[in-house]
Amino acid sequence: MKATLRRLTGIVAAGSLCTALVLGGSFPANKVKTIDKKVDALLKRMTLEEKIGQMTQVVIDVVSEGEDGRREPHALDPVKLEKAIVDYRVGSILNVCTSGYSLPHWIDVITQIQDLATKKTRLGIPVLYGIDAIHGANYTRGATLFPQSVAVAAAWDPEIAKRIGEIAAYEVRASGIQWNFNPTLDLGRQPLWPRFWETYGEDVLLARTLGTSYISGLMGDDMSARDKVAPCLKHYAGYSFPLSGKDRTPAWIDERMMRQYFLPAFEDGVNAGVPTVMANSAEVNGIPGHANYHLLTEVLKQEWKFDGFIVSDWGDIKRLHTRDHVAETPKEAVRMAVMAGIDMSMVPLDFTFYDLLLQLVKEGSVPMSRIDDAVRRILRVKYIVGLFEKPYPDTSLQAGFASKEFTEFNRKVAREVITLLKNSGSILPLKKNSRVLVTGPTANLLSVLNSGWTITWQGDSEALYPDDKLTILGALRTTLGAKNVVYVPGTVFDAPIDIRAAAAAADTVDAVIACLGEKAYCETPGNIDDLTLDEAQLRLVEEIAKKGKPIILVLAEGRPRLIHRIVDKSRAIVMAYLPGMEGGTAIADILFGDAVPGGKLPFSYPKYPNAIVPYDYKSLDTAGGNRYDPEFPFGFGLSYTTFEYSGLKVSKEVFTMKEDIIVDVSVRNTGSVAGQEVVLLYVSDLYRSISPPVRELKAFKKVALQPGETRTVTFTVKSGDLSFIGKDYKRIVEPGRFNVAVGQLTSPFEIR
Ligand code: BGC
Repeated sequence: MKATLRRLTGIVAAGSLCTALVLGGSFPANKVKTIDKKVDALLKRMTLEEKIGQMTQVVIDVVSEGEDGRREPHALDPVKLEKAIVDYRVGSILNVCTSGYSLPHWIDVITQIQDLATKKTRLGIPVLYGIDAIHGANYTRGATLFPQSVAVAAAWDPEIAKRIGEIAAYEVRASGIQWNFNPTLDLGRQPLWPRFWETYGEDVLLARTLGTSYISGLMGDDMSARDKVAPCLKHYAGYSFPLSGKDRTPAWIDERMMRQYFLPAFEDGVNAGVPTVMANSAEVNGIPGHANYHLLTEVLKQEWKFDGFIVSDWGDIKRLHTRDHVAETPKEAVRMAVMAGIDMSMVPLDFTFYDLLLQLVKEGSVPMSRIDDAVRRILRVKYIVGLFEKPYPDTSLQAGFASKEFTEFNRKVAREVITLLKNSGSILPLKKNSRVLVTGPTANLLSVLNSGWTITWQGDSEALYPDDKLTILGALRTTLGAKNVVYVPGTVFDAPIDIRAAAAAADTVDAVIACLGEKAYCETPGNIDDLTLDEAQLRLVEEIAKKGKPIILVLAEGRPRLIHRIVDKSRAIVMAYLPGMEGGTAIADILFGDAVPGGKLPFSYPKYPNAIVPYDYKSLDTAGGNRYDPEFPFGFGLSYTTFEYSGLKVSKEVFTMKEDIIVDVSVRNTGSVAGQEVVLLYVSDLYRSISPPVRELKAFKKVALQPGETRTVTFTVKSGDLSFIGKDYKRIVEPGRFNVAVGQLTSPFEIR
């Protein structure tokens, strides 16, 4: 017997998940009913030009002073603004020109925009402003900037993801903005991809759980509340898995793989009521994301009943002509994208989309019904976020912006994400009376702790970073006293500067803290040809190692750069990922025992460039002597204490399809300090019609244990959690034999 599931209705994980509000569509039916009456009434009054204007989004440069709109200091240009809002009736504006604005400037910008939209246009429809608030309100100066998503994933804590969403929403709304182009729900299964750090790692369940939690923090129960924003799920879908590993290059993902790995997190987001989705900027199987009728219309809008709107990514409609060569003219590109299901075009630098779409409708190449559908969706979202009632910034939110509470929470998060990968002879934590050499390119920069989407797009304008935040070096000097810290940079990323001097300085200290990793980057500029860490950085460690002093590696990086050559030369390895503005302080907290590490890798850390294999590989992956042999496996992370697992118990030996599988396991803190352990439950489906992965993560729970304390952790696995995409691309569960594994313990069960 096969059970077909129309939709996965629940996933098993720690913490609470948003309940799906599927009442005929992706928004609550009662809300949509009232809103749709207003939308229909408004739509009836709109001219074709007003409708197409709503579908048009331009970047703020287009309405700002200066020849290219980028004059500093930034100011809106009233003439350009009037052209966009009154003449072209644009529905949305996005972004910052060159770098983030102060809170008062944002309030001024949004007020001017809404003044014009609500008072000077015929229908007074407010503008929906959109921003990339990827790790907090990163385009508002002084905001609370969290670890980037892949780091957040290392905390394995849905409550943390939710609180990050709440604080981001608060600070974005304090800036007068109601729409956030986040979360990125692409799955991080291609570590070369320069946007790897924008993902929640390689596992579907982890991405689904954290994505849903973050979304619930951003939206709350009511997106029109004064401190909530509308999320945007991106980049739908398959963007994160380019064959070459380079950004915006082709992916090849068949329908089964798409539905098994890349779609579930998006479907959860839609079910949670997220009102906007951004299309994949690249292509899958030769079909550009912006021309993919199947994914945009058939799956998202028809199958999942998504009621919100789809926004294009930056300039990607034009690129159907200029880059992808699927449209012979820019006009055909507009027709193709709109007919595939794109509702709003992030044009963003001109009004060509508006002009071309107008022509297309007048000629009859795009039917009015498609325009009405797109505009209905856009207006619906404007009502849902409360834009009509409250178009202006709520200045009372300024008081809580970047509060002490938010900063303290950020430091706690940064401590919890840091992952201890090696600690030979328990060299860590170091004693506070140690004298250390600090070296390496990531030691004394804030940009390397934050990377892209920080104040600027690339996040690499170090001079713009706040003065009151500490680099790793700054934090170590604070902890140990400046006289106990010798600093020799050693290299600037891939260029040696004073490696010899660094090695010589090692003679004078008790331990060496080598801060390695990546410079700040975002999107395509972050493309690399080799996942291996820079040669100069590897050499720095090799030279210092000759001195025989214990070396502690601290890795500040957005993807797992290969370090195999220096693993054995290091006594300890601390993975900091991109830990955000409190990262320097949190790293010092971990190194000197003010915090106990508890992070676990949300991806497999490869050992070799040609051995990039995820934890849920297939048996075939290991045929012919191949192995899953990463430097550090998925889910790995040490602590300053130790944990022991015992008593794994599955509630029965044989289950029916309808029964829940209850799994108990005891975890004991066997060390001498309190610590947190993430308990991971894997299930292996021994035989099925589509070759099964060797194991799949089905549940996880984080527990805090005092020394000597034991806790029994109970998991409930539903048979639906054991589903997979079958031969006919439908989600099914097949009866048969399974194994459950927690730690080193395993237990069989059967489903009949
Ligand atoms: C990125 C999107 C982003 C958009 C707007 C694009 O280049 O791919 O993730 O939301 O720009 O800034």
